Amino acid sequence: MTADEDLLQRAEAFAREVVAPAAPRWEAERRIGLEALQAAAYLGLTGIEVPVAWGGLGLGYGSKARVAERLAAADFGFTMSLLNTHNVAAKLARDAPALAGRYLPDLLSGQRLGCTALTEPGAGSDFGAIRTQAVRTPQGWRLDGAKAWITNAARADVIVLYAQTEAGSGGRGIACFLIDGTRPGFVREPAYQLSGQHAIGAGGFRLDGYLASDDELLHPPGQAFKAALRSINGARVYIAAMCNGMVGEALRIAQAYGAQRQAFGQPLAGHQGWRWRRAEAATELQAARLLVAQAAEQVESGADAQLLSAQAKLFATRMAERQLPALAQAMGAEGLREVHPFGRHQAGARVASFVDGSSEMLLERIAALQRAATPLVNPEA
Ligand SMILES: Cc1cc2nc3c(=O)[nH]c(=O)nc-3n(C[C@H](O)[C@H](O)[C@H](O)COP(=O)(O)OP(=O)(O)OC[C@H]3O[C@@H](n4cnc5c(N)ncnc54)[C@H](O)[C@@H]3O)c2cc1C
Repeated sequence: MTADEDLLQRAEAFAREVVAPAAPRWEAERRIGLEALQAAAYLGLTGIEVPVAWGGLGLGYGSKARVAERLAAADFGFTMSLLNTHNVAAKLARDAPALAGRYLPDLLSGQRLGCTALTEPGAGSDFGAIRTQAVRTPQGWRLDGAKAWITNAARADVIVLYAQTEAGSGGRGIACFLIDGTRPGFVREPAYQLSGQHAIGAGGFRLDGYLASDDELLHPPGQAFKAALRSINGARVYIAAMCNGMVGEALRIAQAYGAQRQAFGQPLAGHQGWRWRRAEAATELQAARLLVAQAAEQVESGADAQLLSAQAKLFATRMAERQLPALAQAMGAEGLREVHPFGRHQAGARVASFVDGSSEMLLERIAALQRAATPLVNPEA
């Protein structure tokens, strides 16, 4: 068995035995599943892409995307929270070895959570319009501003943060810093009360004269905007994989239910109208999985994955938004029980359609890249 297969087996068992049973409780208590994050860390899931020399598993991007699908089958919010910590650990190991020594042990063990903060109260899709200000001082950088809608913000204190160094300069002036939420000048806001998905720990915080040292500048102006766009391709593909995981699990549950629930003298699955809908779900899921596999391969190989990652996320989130309610409907009233994930997964698909590029922004991206690409059919012919 390869290291990747071994990891997938462990992730699947963990999702089934630990995450799925606890997720309704996290939702009821409106909190991050901290105890399960620490158990996941013990399995190495906070360090899938972190090199072995730093205490990680040293596996590739594809392993992370496959684990994301397995875990999200049990709970989308938990998986988001875990991967956001994972990504900060992997980024520090890759881009900031001096800081990695300071923070990696706590991130990999799940003692501290990580997050990545682009969005602000006044700027979501329009990343170039962020207003958190970074001003050069003799001591380093002084940061002031507010971040909103950040995964893990309810708890995270190892933060990759984007700020503007030159008002009005758009992406050109944006720089990236590592922020330590235990230091003066960091002010956490209460976690958001939402209509679902509280295990994500979404919230906001303010920086009030926070001082970052020079070695905490992860990417200078001119490079940070591009770095953010590079990493977003990977995020889009694993979010798409997570949508596939949710639909795959909903389909599995509906099929098992349809095989035993009787209606009009036969199992639900004996009725053509019932089983055709499941066949449609299985077909769309397969298409989304193939798209994700192809996009994940591009991300892992370092090829330009902008187009495929946008297409994979757009297709998989829309597929999940269509199929999850249809699969819930196939369960009858039984699908409403909290023990089943249908309601949580539908809220997960809603979140998926915003994070790391809303569906509308993905359409814009795809349209722009399609224009640049060679047309499949020559209109002149
Ligand atoms: C649970 C959750 C977790 C999140 N986690 C993070 C995180 O960890 N880090 C982070 O930085 N951000 C995070 N986000 C924020 C997410 O990236 C933003 O929600 C997203 O970028 C969209 O921004 P917005 O919500 O401000 O919508 P807006 O930008 O205000 O847009 C509102 C609507 O208008 C559409 N729209 C905007 N511009 C156009 C246009 N030009 N053409 C057509 N339609 C348009 C959008 O698609 C959207 O439907 C999270 C969000 C959620 C819900």
